[in-house]
Amino acid sequence: MVQRARRIATIPPYLFAEIDKLKAEARARGVDVIDLGIGDPDKPTPEHVIEALTAAAQDPGTHRYPPYDGLPELKRAIADWYKDRYGVELDPETEVLVLIGSKEGLAHILWAYVDPGDVTLVPDPAYPVYRTGTLMAGGIPHAMPLLAENGFLPDYSAVEPAVADKAKLLFLNYPNNPTAAVATPEFFATTVEFARKHDIIVCHDFAYCETTFDGYRAPSFLATPGAKEVGVEFNSLSKPYNMTGWRVAFAVGNKDVLAALSIIKTNIDSGVFNAVQLAARAALTGPQDMIAEMNKMYAGRRDVLIQGLNSLGWQLEPTKGTFYVWAPVPEGYTSKSFAAELLSRCGVNVTPGNGYGEYGEGFFRVALTVDEARMAEAVQRLREQGITFTGKKR
Ligand SMILES: *Cc1c(COP(=O)(O)O)cnc(C)c1O
Repeated sequence: MVQRARRIATIPPYLFAEIDKLKAEARARGVDVIDLGIGDPDKPTPEHVIEALTAAAQDPGTHRYPPYDGLPELKRAIADWYKDRYGVELDPETEVLVLIGSKEGLAHILWAYVDPGDVTLVPDPAYPVYRTGTLMAGGIPHAMPLLAENGFLPDYSAVEPAVADKAKLLFLNYPNNPTAAVATPEFFATTVEFARKHDIIVCHDFAYCETTFDGYRAPSFLATPGAKEVGVEFNSLSKPYNMTGWRVAFAVGNKDVLAALSIIKTNIDSGVFNAVQLAARAALTGPQDMIAEMNKMYAGRRDVLIQGLNSLGWQLEPTKGTFYVWAPVPEGYTSKSFAAELLSRCGVNVTPGNGYGEYGEGFFRVALTVDEARMAEAVQRLREQGITFTGKKR
């Protein structure tokens, strides 16, 4: 066989493969597995968005190649949405770039800035793309540990100045997957200062921008004074509008950075189907009440889970955003052994925290993507099996 490219060999093995295998085996044995591993909204896309797609798809004008940077109508809607939600002014022509999902943009921005040997600063634990994308570009991801005692925010003073000076990109994601932590405007201001001092581009992954609870609103990094000079924000229709399968998202912010990303993209893809872009515009400009409804639903599931786990000895605080709960494994377990035990004894699938990086070890992630009754049953199965939390506190 022909040798594969080195960049493939640099990709770490898929860490969830083992747990996926256990899950498949349990299902094959007839176990009714409650799957709390899925980071994908379980409710459908709103009807008016689907109608906008079907109407747009009927128009042959949508059938040809889209403009590279996105449809002007959608870019305008994105700029208006940012102004309306976050008070951030964007020039739709130069400060908005439509993406085929934010994952695509996050992966490709690495190709725009990272040469072999270049350094990126990536949180750990984290959504894997920041790290694997760096590796594929031949770069060196430098982990910034997200520790419970720091509210799962990186501590910039722990990054050696020599490393910070070498770093080209810094990745952040708040509200955070997998820890469900949120960031303050003060933390973002510190980030801008750090980025300026060391000449680093900040890439804020804002996938859970609208998934927030109990009146909490997540700040946009771009609303930080000076942020647009040092960074970009990746935002997506996927999570707020239940549109993960549609593959439409956008990056906003520094025009120079977006221009660089656009050069990579114009040489790799040809944009998002115009009809999907028009449907995305309908999502951004249409009725927004479904966001509040979804958030109320996730918060209800969160309460069932957290109250349930706390009744078994955990000491979890209610989360402010994302549809995840990040919890420590009981004494005597690793992330992997605990996830395997929940699956074999309770038929409950959770995600082992070490899959998100070495600092995720000792935790597991629960996705709030099953209804309250299923969530309550999952907790009940733990109770019946005598699974409790003793030992170290979060
Ligand atoms: C879901 C998710 C994404 C990917 O979103 P798409 O726009 O669907 O590609 C990006 N970042 C984080 C942290 C996510 O959880």
